[in-house]
Amino acid sequence: MELRFLGNTGIRVSKLCFGTLTMGPFQRGLTPAQGAALLERAFMHGVNFLDTAEIYETYPHVREALRIKPDAVVCTKSYSYDRETAEASFKKAVEGIGREYIDVFLLHEQESAHTIRGHREAIEYFLKKKEEGLIGAVGLSTHYIGCMEAALHYPELEVLFPLINKKGVGIADGGPDEMLSVIARAHEAGRGIIAMKPLGGGHLIAEREEALDFILAQPNIDTIAIGMQSIDEVDYNCVRFSGGTPDGELTRRLSSVRRRMLIQDWCQGCGTCVDACRNHAIHMEGGIARIDYSKCATCGYCARACPEFNIKVI
Ligand code: SF4
Ligand code: SF4
Repeated sequence: MELRFLGNTGIRVSKLCFGTLTMGPFQRGLTPAQGAALLERAFMHGVNFLDTAEIYETYPHVREALRIKPDAVVCTKSYSYDRETAEASFKKAVEGIGREYIDVFLLHEQESAHTIRGHREAIEYFLKKKEEGLIGAVGLSTHYIGCMEAALHYPELEVLFPLINKKGVGIADGGPDEMLSVIARAHEAGRGIIAMKPLGGGHLIAEREEALDFILAQPNIDTIAIGMQSIDEVDYNCVRFSGGTPDGELTRRLSSVRRRMLIQDWCQGCGTCVDACRNHAIHMEGGIARIDYSKCATCGYCARACPEFNIKVI
């Protein structure tokens, strides 16, 4: 597995980044030990980079994995916006993963110049931690081309984590060509680029080969985050990212796996999930929530928000 520098940060990461959202309680619901076993398999293939977030509730899984590979590079994210919330998020991360140093700390799901300005205090807190040697690099994740454009004006945001895939599934304000254009400018300016949702949150699984060819061919992306839930997925992606060809039986098994969100019959119609979905994929109909699968990125955030635990990934 090739290692690459994450922009000008000096941090070296594997071309494949293991996204842990999919193993956590909002998707597969693996125990920390089961999650760590998957991560160990990826380490054996040469992966050294893990992506988590406060909202994913996978710090225990990462903690277990770090017992196996203490020098793994960890990226986390939080919705903190001021000094107090940033301090709480940092504390939760270091205690959660059991290590006092966080390699990459990002503002989660920023939308625009306006939201970056609104999170200034949190950025400053994380930059101070960087000065103290407790964070390696600071940045943001986003589904918005406009937010990537805005981030170009903030050189202190050294790592950018945009959503990009061949069809632009999930990009909130445009298509893949516009996103690739701003990614190229950011990368030329020395920013580290982590690509998010290369398979469109599951929508492009039927076109997995073409979707991976597309993302692997992009010259301005340093590393690509993919959520994995099984040994088959880990083996397939690691072989693919190392330039090999996964065997036919493995490919056939993966092709038969489909995932989608399900709102169960006992929906109380409270509407909380509608607000939780940043992709605007849920609406109320006849007093119950309905999902528009053409917009759903299978992120699981609605499942986390539902007070009735009524939304599942199947
Ligand atoms: S409906 Fe929205 S919040 Fe729920 S999984 Fe799909 S994109 Fe995510
Ligand atoms: S949050 Fe849960 S109970 Fe409320 S509308 Fe959505 S699915 Fe129904």
